[in-house]
Amino acid sequence: MGATEVKNPELWTTKRILEWTRSYFEERGVDSPRLCAELLLTHVLSVERVDLYLDYERPLSLSERDQYKALVKMRTEGVPVQHLIGSQAFRYLDLIVNSNVLIPRPETEILVDHVLRVLDEEFSSNAGDTDAPLLRAADVGTGSGALILSLAKEAKFLFSSLVGLDISADAIGVAIENAERNGLSDRVEFRESDLLSDYSPGDLDLVISNPPYIPTADISELDIEVRKHEPMSALDGGATGLEIIERLMDQAVTVLRSGGIFAIEIGFDQGPAVVDMLSSPSWVRTELHQDLGGMDRVVLARKAGTVE
Ligand code: GLN
Repeated sequence: MGATEVKNPELWTTKRILEWTRSYFEERGVDSPRLCAELLLTHVLSVERVDLYLDYERPLSLSERDQYKALVKMRTEGVPVQHLIGSQAFRYLDLIVNSNVLIPRPETEILVDHVLRVLDEEFSSNAGDTDAPLLRAADVGTGSGALILSLAKEAKFLFSSLVGLDISADAIGVAIENAERNGLSDRVEFRESDLLSDYSPGDLDLVISNPPYIPTADISELDIEVRKHEPMSALDGGATGLEIIERLMDQAVTVLRSGGIFAIEIGFDQGPAVVDMLSSPSWVRTELHQDLGGMDRVVLARKAGTVE
């Protein structure tokens, strides 16, 4: 026990405040209570998480304590921790998030893994060759920009064009900020667009997307964090949940060149339906992959035809 604690047991140190908040959050059913407390405190103190442990007996000033308490209150009222601290990590990116964009989920990182794997298998052997074609990719419903910015960060040498599209001008604003924040502005372009409606046949080599896929009737069952604080346009996939996916697939089969890749995230119970939708002769080599929880989450396919 530290001397400070003995002399002044009422002092709000990092250690005490984290312990107190963990049990406060736990009683109120807040997810990951200890992590959440740490994230809020690092935000108020403008430090990294490791710094909390390096200075465990640091007392909070009155203003830090007030600021922290206000955040704790908002968190118990259902405001996502990412909105309170203003950011979310996604792969190698630190992304600004607010209520204009979906908070990138860990399971969406897997979609990038599969796309990078397929690009590596199918294209990287030519990457050193100056005549190798560079690829043109579009991320549909880009939101924070998580998917297209990850491709820019992790596989830029494969692409001649990386475009993030969203129907929401507010989302495009966030994505542009995220490109700047992550030093990727010169490699990615963002445009307001209803799915792929501005593209012509054969314009693209890769379509990647985490489209809205929740059936409208299930929206009311979502956690309050999601339902009240995240944009409906990023979640609601129409009556079947598959309406946007269906439209996107119809457009993708036209705007992709033969051999081009279609890669999307889907809902945990949509695997069989989406694979079935891709069973037409227009698509080949369909793959269905699971997330870390064993749920169907990612579908990939190639547009049929001879690779030009
Ligand atoms: N996975 C998200 C959720 O469960 C939904 C994302 C989406 O509709 N694309 O909240």
